[in-house]
Amino acid sequence: MEFKFTAEEEKFRVELREFLTKELPDGWTGGGEEEGDDWDFELEMRKKLADKGWLTMAWPEEYGGSGASHMMQLVFAEEMAYQRAPGRDQFGTKMLAPTLMIHGTEEQKREYLPPIARGEVQWCQGYSEPESGSDLASLQTRAVEDGDDFVVNGTKIWTSNAHHADHVMVLTRTDPDAPKHRGISFLLADMKQPGVEVRPIINMANNHSFNMVVFDDVRVPKRNLVGELNRGWYVGATLLDFERSGVEYSAGTKRTLEELIQFCKDNSRNGRRLIDDPKISRKLADLTVKTEISRLISYQIAWMQSAGLVPNKESSMGKSFGTELQQAVARAGMEILGLYGQLEPDSKHSPLQGRIEQSYMMSVSATIAAGTSEIQRNIIATRGLGLPR
Ligand SMILES: Cc1cc2nc3c(=O)[nH]c(=O)nc-3n(C[C@H](O)[C@H](O)[C@H](O)COP(=O)(O)OP(=O)(O)OC[C@H]3O[C@@H](n4cnc5c(N)ncnc54)[C@H](O)[C@@H]3O)c2cc1C
Repeated sequence: MEFKFTAEEEKFRVELREFLTKELPDGWTGGGEEEGDDWDFELEMRKKLADKGWLTMAWPEEYGGSGASHMMQLVFAEEMAYQRAPGRDQFGTKMLAPTLMIHGTEEQKREYLPPIARGEVQWCQGYSEPESGSDLASLQTRAVEDGDDFVVNGTKIWTSNAHHADHVMVLTRTDPDAPKHRGISFLLADMKQPGVEVRPIINMANNHSFNMVVFDDVRVPKRNLVGELNRGWYVGATLLDFERSGVEYSAGTKRTLEELIQFCKDNSRNGRRLIDDPKISRKLADLTVKTEISRLISYQIAWMQSAGLVPNKESSMGKSFGTELQQAVARAGMEILGLYGQLEPDSKHSPLQGRIEQSYMMSVSATIAAGTSEIQRNIIATRGLGLPR
């Protein structure tokens, strides 16, 4: 079997690369989604990518896409992640949009999809709560019907990008007497309204990327209920499958690993090139094999999406394997770079401009966000292998 991109896909990759070379600052090594200038740049890039029609190219045309293949979309995601390029609202494009296409009403699709395609809005995900993470179905945020609205009260936590968001997809309890999975509804709420309070949380890498969000009598029109009342668990679970899919894990890791390999070729210790140390070269070879496996899992997921299937155990496989690999590469990098590896990017002595240090710090949370590795393994075991709960 030969895995090959079509000539059209390869042509698009070249076009995208040229675009990124032109648009990204000289010497670009990647940015974060932080406050200030970086966020302005994020939005600027988003608009340019949207104008090209690239953010949502696999969507149907009526919602702002161009009906391109999922493999074409994969090429875009892979190249963007490899170049560490900013500009995508993953919550909107990768998670909410495909979920709405399955569970949303026609009115919801027409209202919410085009602004995502035009790169005009930022979404965030209100799932986790202070007492509900892995056991998400135990969530307590209440939504009570009142006329044409729901009135929402409760607290969400670890809400990434809430401080930038225009809208939130929020899981709420609408029937407190039903079994926990059967009393949940999936709502789309406006973040810029009275009663929504966003409290910043600073992570261990000293970045502001997530928040606590408090809802105090927040009104959500009933037309913003996605799927059936009290059946929101299933809508929320579909979204998680899309969230956990993606070639980003392997493409980002591939880049870091390539940089590490180059560093080991260019630098010596005790008169010997690092790469000539068999312990190091074997480690790098092993990680290269695993990066390739991670890439192939994500290609399979893209193929499933192109066949109209919702990847489930495959997403959990890709997510757990890809994020554990991110950590393994960062750990190997820290071991190879020695004490200098701990220096932050602003130190002139930090190897690879502190990228391994940053990756080491940031990848800790990768096996927690979007469901921990333990939860992914539970899904693979029960839904994938049919093992008992
Ligand atoms: C960087 C980052 C970004 C995030 N962004 C968002 C966001 O935008 N929106 C959002 O809603 N949430 C977000 N989260 C929250 C994330 O989804 C939760 O942290 C995650 O689901 C785990 O929940 P918890 O932190 O409450 O841990 P807990 O559920 O308390 O888990 C603690 C430990 O127990 C283990 N465990 C729990 N239950 C089981 C079980 N049944 N079997 C085996 N082991 C188990 C877990 O694996 C873990 O090791 C984010 C988290 C991070 C780290």
